[in-house]
Parts: sequence; C-alpha cells; structure tokens
Amino acid sequence: MALQRPKGTQDHLPDGSPKLSRDVQASAFAFVQDTARRVLERAGAQFIHTPLFEEAELVKRGVGGSTDIVRKEMFTVYYFGDHGGYVLRPEGTASIVRAYLQNGLKQLPAPLKLWTHGPMFRAENVQKGRLRQFHQVDYEVLGSEGPLVDAEAIWLMWEVVRELGLTGVRVKLGSIGDPEDREAYNAYLRDLFTPHVERLSDDSKDRLTRNPMRILDSKSEGDQALIRELNVKPMLDFLGEEARAHFEAVQRSLTAWDIPYDIDPSIVRGLDYYRRTAWELHHEGVGAKSALGGGGRYDGLAAQLGGPEVPGIGWAFGIERLLLALEAEGVAFPEPGGPLLFLAAMDEENVGLAARVALQGRRVARVEFAYRALKPGNAFKEADRRRARYAAIIGSDEAARGVLNLKNLASGEQQEVALADLNTFLAERV
Ligand code: AMP
Repeated sequence: MALQRPKGTQDHLPDGSPKLSRDVQASAFAFVQDTARRVLERAGAQFIHTPLFEEAELVKRGVGGSTDIVRKEMFTVYYFGDHGGYVLRPEGTASIVRAYLQNGLKQLPAPLKLWTHGPMFRAENVQKGRLRQFHQVDYEVLGSEGPLVDAEAIWLMWEVVRELGLTGVRVKLGSIGDPEDREAYNAYLRDLFTPHVERLSDDSKDRLTRNPMRILDSKSEGDQALIRELNVKPMLDFLGEEARAHFEAVQRSLTAWDIPYDIDPSIVRGLDYYRRTAWELHHEGVGAKSALGGGGRYDGLAAQLGGPEVPGIGWAFGIERLLLALEAEGVAFPEPGGPLLFLAAMDEENVGLAARVALQGRRVARVEFAYRALKPGNAFKEADRRRARYAAIIGSDEAARGVLNLKNLASGEQQEVALADLNTFLAERV
C-alpha cells in the first residue's frame, strides 16, 4: 500500500475531491480564517506569526508542567540525531506572550490585540474532533486588565461564530478569582478530599498535594463520581470582592450586548497564572465534552515566563470543531466558484495565443486555459467542468482579427470582444 499520513492528522483537500467532508475541505478552512480575519481586524487586532516549534521550557511554563498536555502529549523535535530541547507548539498563547516580551511590543499602544491561526500539535488519543495536528484561530490582548476587554474578547468570539452562520452555540462563563481566592478554595478542597484520598485516581492523589482545583478537571469517572457525592462548592463561592466586581462587570456588558451566556461553575483553570474571567463556547453538534473554543484571563503568565507583569486575556477556537458544527447545522457557505473565463484553441498553432491571452487576463481575474487544442464541444464541456462563467475558443479567424467570441455559459449569450478590451470586460465582471 502507498504511504499513509500519520494518525491524527488530516489532509485539507481541494473542492471536488471524492473523499471530501467539510472538516477537511481546504476552502472551508479558508472561509473560517477569512471570517475570523474580518471580524478581528475590524476590532483592531493585528496578525502575528510565531514558530511552529518552541523551547520545551516555554511550553512547560506557559501551559503548566502538571497538565496532561505537557506530561503526556508533547511532540519533541529532534534534529541531526540531537535532542534540541524543542517541542511542537500545543497552543498559541505562550508563544504570543513570549514574542510580545522578546520583541518589546509593550511599546505599541495598549491594549495590544493580536491574532493568529495555524496548526497546533498534541499527541492525544485520536477520536472525532480530537486530532494530533489541529488548527486554531487565536486572539490575545495584552496590556489591559479592565473587564471591558474581557467582555469584548467574548463578544469577538461570539461574532466569529455568528458571522460563520452558526446558531446552536452557548457561552459558558466562569471566574476563577484572584490568587488569594484560589488559595482559599484549594484549602477548602484539600480538607474536603483528604478523608477520601483512597478513592481518588493516582493523578488526582498527586493533584491533591500540588493543586487540588485540578481534581475538578479530572477525566476519571471515579473522581467525577466522588466530586458529585461530596457536593463540592464552586469556585464562584470563593471570589473576593474585586474578582466578584470584575465578574459582574463582564456580565453586565454581555447582557447589554445581547450575548446569551450561562454561568458555569464547573469552568476551572487550575494554573497559577490564570485570573478571573474564564469561558468556553459549546455546540450541541460537536458533543457536550468538546468545546468549540475557550478563553481566559492570564495576568500572571508574562511573569511566569520570566518577564514583567503584563495583564493578558485570550481565546482559541479549534477550526476543525467549528467545521464540524457548521456541518452539523448544515450551514451553507459560499461555494467556491470557477474561473471567470476559460480559453481554448481549436488548433495547435493557437494554443500559445490562448495561453498568452489568459496570462494577460489574470492581471484582473481568474482565467484558465487548455494546454492543447480542443474541439468546440470538448472545450465547452471542459469549461463547464471547471465551472467557468465565460468560455472562448480561439480559431484562426479570431486569431487573425484579434478578437474573442465570449460565450456566457449560463445564458448561452455570445459577444465579440477585441483582445485589447478583454481586461476591461473581465474587470467589470469580477
Ligand atoms: P485549549 O487550548 O485546550 O483550550 O483548546 C482550545 C480549542 O482548541 C478547543 O476548544 C478545541 O476546539 C480545539 N482543540 C484542542 N485540542 C484539540 C484536538 N486535539 N483536536 C482538535 N481540536 C482541538
């Protein structure tokens, strides 16, 4: 058998491919990226690219050494047989904050809004909506701690899904308070779970000493059963005054802007540098356990990476998950069209002329041509297959007179246009 792509990766295929579904359709990816670009750039976000691989240390500090991502899901990069200490990036935030610090972006007007899209890598158990190479749209705002920035970030995420045409989306909103609130909550959890330590999974036994909040994130059924039994109070009950005021301010904006949200006390992010606002977007079509995307405030991250304190907040969507949701809802989006003009020559000596006219036409529109002479019937068939809007066949008469006989393939109408006027004709119809 011919070689296969690695497990958990996908080829993004051209339209018309026999094995095409929306979540592997290259033009569908472009549609999501273009929609995100439009929404985010109208809000003043600027594009940033960072490397696909980074120092392992950055990811460890940025994502958290105790997370599954760092402990079990990292792709290490080797080169020339040497271990480079690099990993493929599993997410975008750590890299963007690193780039902000390293390149002195603090000089730019704050809050600085940045966005990117691209592949991320996690060695996960592969299943529907869970890949080893997947793609994210990522938005990060640095340099402001106000709740209006948080609400705007959520609004932008909402606006992207709205512009895509999705409807069955819910925002689940939570707050994880300030560090001292979390300390109080962790103390409460430690007291609560310690008498039941024998029932916890091995991972959660470890979490009990290091970071009890992360027990609530556990994927183990046994842990989740114990959590239900113990009637664990939510983090929200432990918010201090300032974190509560911030949380309420975010909600007031969301309500004023008509963004439907549910308060979800189960949203916890156990890492030290997360502060206050955290949320996820969910869609029925993708499954209850799989978020379309999520975000949160991470005011402590820059310092965690060795820089000064820089408040920050950001979110990421999984593009494949958005595409699954679009497919589940049957949302139609612009079908990619064909060329504006398809050119063919009737005889070999005019193939070169057809090519030259096509190259000239490409200055204003998508124009394709046949690489060998075609009989008129075949030329029109070929133009149809490519979904061209106009077709023209160059014979010796057209070549001698310097004209094209353009046929509108939808209406059948024909029209003679001088070669010199072709680009004007095309420009008017792009
Ligand atoms: P996270 O960085 O874990 O908060 O993930 C943000 C979003 O990326 C999720 O809501 C998913 O949409 C997407 N995502 C995360 N991991 C995967 C994966 N293994 N496969 C596909 N999408 C993913």
